[in-house]
Amino acid sequence: MISYDLTGKTALVTGGASGIGLATCRMLAKFGATVAVNFLADDPRGPEAVDAIIDAGGKAIMAPGNVGDAADAPRMVEKAIADLGRLDLLFANAGIPGTRHRIAPPQLDLITEELWAQLLQVNLLGVFRCAKAAGPALKESHGAIVSTASIAGLGRAGSSLAYGATKAGVVSLTQNLARALAPEVRVNAIAPGAVDSTWTVEWTNEERQSSIEKALLKRRCTTDDLAEVVLFLGFGAAMVTGQTITVDGGLTL
Ligand code: NAD
Repeated sequence: MISYDLTGKTALVTGGASGIGLATCRMLAKFGATVAVNFLADDPRGPEAVDAIIDAGGKAIMAPGNVGDAADAPRMVEKAIADLGRLDLLFANAGIPGTRHRIAPPQLDLITEELWAQLLQVNLLGVFRCAKAAGPALKESHGAIVSTASIAGLGRAGSSLAYGATKAGVVSLTQNLARALAPEVRVNAIAPGAVDSTWTVEWTNEERQSSIEKALLKRRCTTDDLAEVVLFLGFGAAMVTGQTITVDGGLTL
């Protein structure tokens, strides 16, 4: 793994109390960055994540807030930037499937207005709100944005077709935010494949096994596999912008 010296650098990670977000917070802190961990205000995993990073010798602060809320998202980002003193990386990672069981593409009856509204608010508008609010601070620091898309946004059927559409939106937003915030800020995204995280879609054993067999590298992604690419896009990759990097072990190849 590449090693970084992130002393004096800061990051805000949305959905930072579990899964890919938490692994990224830990990795950022391990390399010396101060991390603002965003989580839903009533989620006890948020304060626990911050305590665990501090106990491990890292620097972390709490940034509770709902990225799916038009007023709360910019409030949360502005407060995190004020608390951190500067911002070098926004990892806009919070996202939801909105369903416990996969909704296959032909099951159109199960795709409701409520599901669309929920997924658009969190997965797509949440990314935009945080990026817009963080833009001025990132321009000042010549920082970066990394968002979490999905292979479901790149043509693969995901947890539902509405989820796939929101993640395809993140891919498009990544290209246009790269145009919007250049030349100071680089904007990229990761597209995870099948990740073993706290993701709430229930996989059958058969589906899990098939995702391993179909992957060229013959395993599912760990959350650290994703965190590593987030750090590279955030603090390396000096000439990469507007890109969505697939991290799926060759599952979709
Ligand atoms: P996760 O459920 O552990 O992480 C999502 C986090 O976001 C949770 O902590 C959740 O509480 C938080 N969150 C949800 N709504 C929020 C809101 N409105 N405001 C703030 N925080 C909110 O699962 P994960 O796998 O780590 O998911 C992270 C990202 O990865 C998501 O965007 C997801 O769509 C994407 N993804 C996951 C997979 C997978 O297989 N796990 C595959 C592709 C993409």
